[in-house]
Amino acid sequence: MAPAILDTRGRSLRNLRVSVTDRCNLRCGYCMPEEEYVWLPREHILRFEETAQLVDVFLDLGVDKLRLTGGEPLLRQGLHELVRQLADKPRVRDLALTTNGLLLPEQAQDLRAAGLKRITVSLDTLKPDVFTALTRRPGLERVLTGIEVAARLWPREVKLDAVIMRGTNDGEIESLLEFARERGVELRYIEYMDVGGATRWTSDAVVSREEILERLAHRFGRIVPAGKSGSAPAERFTLSDGTVFGVIASTTAPFCRACDRSRLTADGLWYLCLYAKLGIDLRGALRKGASRTELAELIARTWRARDDRGAEVRLASHARGPSVPADSLRVDPHLEMHTRGG
Ligand code: SAM
Ligand code: SF4
Ligand code: SF4
Repeated sequence: MAPAILDTRGRSLRNLRVSVTDRCNLRCGYCMPEEEYVWLPREHILRFEETAQLVDVFLDLGVDKLRLTGGEPLLRQGLHELVRQLADKPRVRDLALTTNGLLLPEQAQDLRAAGLKRITVSLDTLKPDVFTALTRRPGLERVLTGIEVAARLWPREVKLDAVIMRGTNDGEIESLLEFARERGVELRYIEYMDVGGATRWTSDAVVSREEILERLAHRFGRIVPAGKSGSAPAERFTLSDGTVFGVIASTTAPFCRACDRSRLTADGLWYLCLYAKLGIDLRGALRKGASRTELAELIARTWRARDDRGAEVRLASHARGPSVPADSLRVDPHLEMHTRGG
């Protein structure tokens, strides 16, 4: 294992989220609530060989966990080919994907065969009308079919992520866990975050970790902490029947202290924090012919200077609202969660 490169707070460079597209086939209210979006220029999007080249440099520097994301990653043509290239790299210890599940029924088999190890499907509701209102698109049936297919292909390696918003899906906290339990998959509740893109965010709409746990205890009885796993953001809990679930309290109890993740956008900008305003232009360096050593020096130098703790800073700020106004998002779409990769 390569020696860890540490940032100014002693956090290692281990975990890279690779966004493969800024496009999405849904318009979730907590992520893409606007009518119009500014998309990344097509010629800026990294080819798979370029993504793999950059990933190699990160692997040289100690990264061993990769997660493909987006936008909606399954919209990227031939994604399984990138998965195969990455899965073949000996230093990749973990290769996962986050998807909204709509295109899983037709792509899951190819992704499995290509070597994808784990999959997370976003599922915020079990009600078709709520799904359509929340995502502004139909398709819950296809997502549910995608989850069934994934649960067969990746036994014990499927997770479901649910962002809980007051007044939208907070009535489904219990039923989502029942759904996951019946299928043997782990559900994780995510607090609604004021990230870029969440232009309708209000603190009233956040359902906190505390409230989620209270509701679950009321329905299912005693809940026991199951311990955190390393730098993973989810706190895990167990019901008395052994059902395990997670809560990601990114808004009320952020985990910046242990954060080893950074994000590469589909056009090759590297962000050190979900809330960072500026990214490092690795595409530019790569396309200008920087060598593997030069790229490694740039990445290592940048990580060593990292001081980001965006969610903790947000927590300390008074009078919270959306972190980036909609007009700034139009000027720089990299500030969007769907461009940066959640
Ligand atoms: N499109 C894929 C999906 O939805 O799974 C992958 C990209 S999406 C940006 C990744 C994750 O970010 C999703 O699980 C989504 O729920 C989460 N997300 C987006 N906006 C959020 C917000 N404002 N607060 C909390 N989570 C958010
Ligand atoms: Fe929803 Fe993911 Fe698309 Fe954002 S990127 S709108 S969370 S499906
Ligand atoms: Fe990491 Fe930034 Fe999220 Fe904190 S806010 S956990 S530093 S990505």
